[in-house]
Order: sequence, then C-alpha cells, then structure tokens
Amino acid sequence: MAKRRLVLTFPPEVVERPVISLMVKEFDVITNILRAEVHEGEIGRMMVELEGEGRNLKDGVQYLKDQGVGVEEAIKDIVLDESLCTSCGACTAVCLPGALKVGAPDWELVLDKDRCILCGLCVDACPLQLIKVLF
Ligand code: SF4
Ligand code: SF4
Repeated sequence: MAKRRLVLTFPPEVVERPVISLMVKEFDVITNILRAEVHEGEIGRMMVELEGEGRNLKDGVQYLKDQGVGVEEAIKDIVLDESLCTSCGACTAVCLPGALKVGAPDWELVLDKDRCILCGLCVDACPLQLIKVLF
C-alpha cells in the first residue's frame, strides 16, 4: 500500500460535489481528512492522507484533478519557533500521536514530523503561539 499526504484545493463550483466520496468508492482509496476549511460558495482546502494500492492511488488522485480539484504534495506543513519555547509542555498534552515531547535529559521540546498528523491542536494549546500549521 502506498501513502500520500496532499493539500487539496476545491474551486467554489466543486465544493458542493461529493468528489472525495466518489473517489473513495471508485478507487478504493482510504482517505483520512487531517484538516479542512470548506464553506459553500467559497474556495475550499483540505489536507488529506490517502492510502491505497499504487495504481488505485494514482488513478484516484488523477480523478480528483479531472474533477477540477487542485492537488499539491503537503510539505513543510508544521513550523515550531524553538527559540522562544519555554518547554512548558502544554502542546505535548494535546498531541495524541506523540509528535511533541518534552523529556530527559535536557527537557527541551522535540517535534517528530513523521508522527505529526497536522491536526492543529498544538497551535491553540501553545500560550506563546509558537506553532503554526501551514495549510
Ligand atoms: S499538529 Fe497535531 S499531531 Fe502535529 S504536533 Fe501538533 S498536536 Fe501533534
Ligand atoms: S506549548 Fe509552546 S511554549 Fe509550551 S512547550 Fe509547546 S511550543 Fe513550547
């Protein structure tokens, strides 16, 4: 099974169509929606992780493109300003996948991007607003 993490952009005329559901049904692609900003009549954006057999995944992504959905690889998607971090741990408490950790020996905050699912919970949890999820 192959995996791709993508940012999808839906033009207003596409937002109201169930293109994701149809892609899942037609191409048997497991779709995990990590973040979404979708409002009727406006440009919608969604970050998704797609998983499927190589050919199915490729065809599913092509289907989205054919429907007018913009498709970009999700890269450099979470940014942490470590210089001001006090290691208070507030962000680690909300990070369910364990991508943020404070621990021995130096008690500095460590971000493991491979574990991050871009849920954005840490963004609101940080009292100093040091974390941004680029979307
Ligand atoms: S975005 Fe979510 S998964 Fe990623 S570091 Fe923040 S809380 Fe953890
Ligand atoms: S909540 Fe903010 S200040 Fe506290 S450990 Fe996380 S990034 Fe650092």
